[in-house]
Amino acid sequence: MDPMTCPQCGAQMTPRERGGVTVAQCTSCQGIYLARADLGLLVEQENDWHVAKGPSTQPIPRIMPGMTAPPEYAVTRQARSYLDELFG
Ligand SMILES: [Zn+2]
Repeated sequence: MDPMTCPQCGAQMTPRERGGVTVAQCTSCQGIYLARADLGLLVEQENDWHVAKGPSTQPIPRIMPGMTAPPEYAVTRQARSYLDELFG
């Protein structure tokens, strides 16, 4: 893939391999260009991701008197989608 220029901000776009698909991602605004067929592949993988994950929700903590908020480092960020994992 030849280097491309971002149509949004004019910065250079670099190829990145994500989920078996090569996309061009802007080094400045993080915009993404990909072929229509590759978008279809990512959508299929997104659907598979949700099927494999199943319904998952965080357990709601029981509110107790005197409890304090967890420290910032203890709060883990979970991917909400396959694309979030790929590009987040
Ligand atoms: Zn850009």
